[in-house]
Amino acid sequence: PRQFFVGGNFKMNPATQEQKRALVKTLNDADIDPAVEVVIAPPSIYLLALKDTLRKDIQVAAQNCYCKPTGAFTGEISPAQLVDAGVPYVILGHSERRTLFHESSELVAQKTKAALDAGLAVILCVGETLEEREQGRTAQVVEAQLQPVVQVVGEKDWSKIVVAYEPVWAIGTGKVATSAQAQEAHDNIRRFLAKAVSPAVAESTRIIYGGSVTAANCKELATQPDVDGFLVGGASLKPEFIQIINAKR
Ligand code: 13P
Repeated sequence: PRQFFVGGNFKMNPATQEQKRALVKTLNDADIDPAVEVVIAPPSIYLLALKDTLRKDIQVAAQNCYCKPTGAFTGEISPAQLVDAGVPYVILGHSERRTLFHESSELVAQKTKAALDAGLAVILCVGETLEEREQGRTAQVVEAQLQPVVQVVGEKDWSKIVVAYEPVWAIGTGKVATSAQAQEAHDNIRRFLAKAVSPAVAESTRIIYGGSVTAANCKELATQPDVDGFLVGGASLKPEFIQIINAKR
């Protein structure tokens, strides 16, 4: 059985220390299902404070990292620095990184390998645009995003990867995928992993859904057999995030 996983991707929010403290308080005071793995990804400037002030059953994640340990890479943070700071997870390949910051699937794969080698666990994001979906290319696009990772990551390292299926058309739009659309995409990813890595890895890898998840739609999505959790953007900054964490309860 795969442990249900709920991530909160704060993106470039909140705007102030005061709001950050309020978010921590909401999480620390909440009644959270102990069966769920909960990971919060704040902007890097808040990572250490969150790690120190959040309840210990909630982990933290960076939203990105580079693929070198140290050096002249202005603006970047390394996997080794995250490990040294006690940060266990990193999000890689988010569609905002791929689109706004021009990260290729090859770079995402290099970062994934570097992160795993340094000892981080990775939330690896994939997903198609609306145009790609309308052309019937969803499975092909997602497989092309995963393939470079399959090529550089060894079979045993997949135990440290959570795959986040985030259709670009659903991110921040209020247009959530239907539970049938999510299930179909997750099932395709699992079949791809079975073929490209191994049936055991396909069976044990968590595949979580992201894109306009709310308290109102999470329960229905969570009933799908291949939906193993969520990666939540906007709603992770609101009290309803607690209801999303508890979607299975
Ligand atoms: P929203 O939940 O705001 O649509 O964002 C999803 C996302 O990109 C999580 O990584």
